[in-house]
Amino acid sequence: MHARAVALLQLETDLRRAVSTLQMGSASREFQLRYQPIVSLETFTIVGFEALVRWHHPEKGWISPGDFIPVAEDTGLVIPLGQWVLAEACRQLREWQLEFPHSTLSVSVNLSTKQFAQPELIEQISQLLQHYQVEPHRLKIEITESAIMGNTESATALLEQLKALGLQLMIDDFGTGYSSLSYLHQFPIDMVKIDQSFVGRIGNDDAEDEGAEIVRAIVMLAHTLEMNVVAEGIETAEQVSQLKILKAEYGQGYFFAKPLSSEEAATLIKANFH
Ligand code: C2E
Ligand code: MG
Ligand code: MG
Repeated sequence: MHARAVALLQLETDLRRAVSTLQMGSASREFQLRYQPIVSLETFTIVGFEALVRWHHPEKGWISPGDFIPVAEDTGLVIPLGQWVLAEACRQLREWQLEFPHSTLSVSVNLSTKQFAQPELIEQISQLLQHYQVEPHRLKIEITESAIMGNTESATALLEQLKALGLQLMIDDFGTGYSSLSYLHQFPIDMVKIDQSFVGRIGNDDAEDEGAEIVRAIVMLAHTLEMNVVAEGIETAEQVSQLKILKAEYGQGYFFAKPLSSEEAATLIKANFH
């Protein structure tokens, strides 16, 4: 326990130092964004990318967000880090808008619960959109169910404000949190991302294919509420064909591509939108 506490404290100290060097709108030495394609399951063209942050620790090498985002969240460091992520994603969107004027692709950014509870958020995003001249509908925000359900009233107000800016809103990891189904229709959500734990169970050997049945139920619910569906964590061709039958609109996962550097992503965009 002692060793673990010391390691955690060290991680926190290192994270604090790394975050303190961040400058809005400039590249960072230790943090980078990776871009994972989101693909239309009908046409197999890329409709956008999810921006995923990576931390290159000077001694420990790459640390995955699953290991440092919770620490960032607990310490509040996720606020400046999240701001940098938003700015970097907008900067990248602008660059791609200029380089590929015929593409309509979007970039989605994950917002943590703490960021979502922050009063300045709307103003910050609005300034970024202006500064980078990003078309607002190309920026998508991913929020988890728990971030919304914590305080449904203020969440609704905030989501309405984000919508008013013209952004698209997505619920991430759908099905793993405590969504109150009775609230879901109140939120101005455009898309639901089906968590990879359900997608991963499609085509498993159990006779009823429970995974597919859960996905079917989520897709039906989303469509009833006039939301589109992105299936996360697609790894096999079997999952792709099942998801098409189940009428999920979009997919994301290693089957299509891992999270890519911005150069690799640009190469893919070029091939998709010539
Ligand atoms: P998420 O938003 O649900 O992101 C999807 C995660 O699934 C990513 O992990 C991605 O690399 C991984 N993934 C994609 N396709 C597959 C697949 O086919 N199979 C499997 N097994 N995994 C796949 P990653 O990049 O490690 O991110 C983990 C989580 O960390 C994210 O989950 C998100 O909640 C959080 N995160 C990442 N970037 C940010 C950020 O900039 N801000 C905040 N607040 N959270 C972030
Ligand atoms: Mg996400
Ligand atoms: Mg997810």
